[in-house]
Amino acid sequence: MRYVSTRGQAPARDFEGVLLAGLAEDGGLFMPETWPELSAAEWRALRGRPYAEVAAHLMARFTGESLPEAKLLELANRAYAGFGSAATAPLVQLEPQLFALELFHGPTLAFKDMAMQMLGQLFDHVLARRGERVTIVGATSGDTGSAAIEACRDRAAIDVLILHPEGRTSEVQRRQMTTVLSPNIHNIAVQGSFDDCQDLVKAMFTDAPFRQEMQLSAVNSINWARIAAQVPYYAYAALALGAPDRPVAVAVPTGNFGNVLAAWVARRMGLPIERLIIGANRNDILARFLSGNDMSMQEVAPSLSPSMDIQVSSNFERLLFELLGRDAQATASTMQRFRAEGRMPVPDAAWKQATRLIQGFTVSDEATLEEIRRLHRDCGYLADPHTAIGIAAGRAHLPDDKGIPVIVAATAHPAKFPDAVEKATGFRPPLPPRMADLYDREERFAVLPNDLGQIEAAVRGHVRRNTGA
Ligand SMILES: *Cc1c(COP(=O)(O)O)cnc(C)c1O
Repeated sequence: MRYVSTRGQAPARDFEGVLLAGLAEDGGLFMPETWPELSAAEWRALRGRPYAEVAAHLMARFTGESLPEAKLLELANRAYAGFGSAATAPLVQLEPQLFALELFHGPTLAFKDMAMQMLGQLFDHVLARRGERVTIVGATSGDTGSAAIEACRDRAAIDVLILHPEGRTSEVQRRQMTTVLSPNIHNIAVQGSFDDCQDLVKAMFTDAPFRQEMQLSAVNSINWARIAAQVPYYAYAALALGAPDRPVAVAVPTGNFGNVLAAWVARRMGLPIERLIIGANRNDILARFLSGNDMSMQEVAPSLSPSMDIQVSSNFERLLFELLGRDAQATASTMQRFRAEGRMPVPDAAWKQATRLIQGFTVSDEATLEEIRRLHRDCGYLADPHTAIGIAAGRAHLPDDKGIPVIVAATAHPAKFPDAVEKATGFRPPLPPRMADLYDREERFAVLPNDLGQIEAAVRGHVRRNTGA
């Protein structure tokens, strides 16, 4: 399996190359050269199999020779062993047609663990075989940093440095990062905003000698391996509901479009997903695109679902590439105009094609709280604000369909966003028992000013200590 860049100016790579590179050299995102497809019989054979088996089987279609299914199964078994549910991603029926696919039973209580735990295993395996090491640097406003830290802790060939804006993450989010005391993990609280943190990371990546010296690598949501590791849970849920012999719809609360794209890929591989429904908070660039071909950037406004407070949905470029008939030149110029003018000129035919499959809904903070309240009252179900947006979007779509079950991606545990849940229900959800002592654990992090020189010195010092250089 080879991968090409959506902008057409970078050399094709294999899965390993794509895993380690993240972003293509031309600024584009990697896509498989061709889509693997499964026959109905092949889908049926996966029905009722353990999650790790489904994951290994589907991911093997993307890795090719270098990582065979048997090896992937070994990695997947390790990746999902620590999850707090024997089903890994249990499907909970809320209403006759509405199902929550719980993706939050991993170590940091958000869906990012589903892919990141697998990514940690993949990095470890590939680096050991090559005799190489990497330094992962990332900026986080909350969920991604802790998922990366949990996935890479105690791995010999990986150092992890995560920048977070001092005092601007929730306490649960900060503690999930700073209480991991493994020697290869380093947290830096930057005296600045999340945007400052992101700019510092970008500056480290564009400092070519530094990048080379530190073997910098990224695990952000544009890494194809993360998308590949998100496809299996849609298959796992759809098969449980009768696919491939019965169609399903999927509803996803979205920010970066990564999780929705994985559902699109599952469909492209032959799974009968009839509809993709996306839920957005007030930062609703994707919903505005779907309703009126208006993909225009606005200021990011804070909401009750902070992990979706995003204006640029980076993974949308992958769908755009497909909508434009895989024309890399057209994709590159569309993305350049979006960057320059803040508005993406999507041709009408491509937009119409998107709207035939994808439906978007904007859910306000008030409607989010109302949905949390209603689920608690009518179904005895506690949903976090992100999940509630997905459920509200799935519910808004229901009158349109013909008895097709809707699978909603439940992206975070309610205890990860206790304030919103308490506001809606009067009830403060407790942390799961395995994390109940989170507030008592020792924290370790450095506080540094928003200064590239000092941050790079900290990275260098940390890596030197671990390599003994
Ligand atoms: C990251 C995140 C999202 C958004 O996922 P995308 O792939 O960026 O669309 C939704 N909910 C939670 C809890 C998240 O952490």
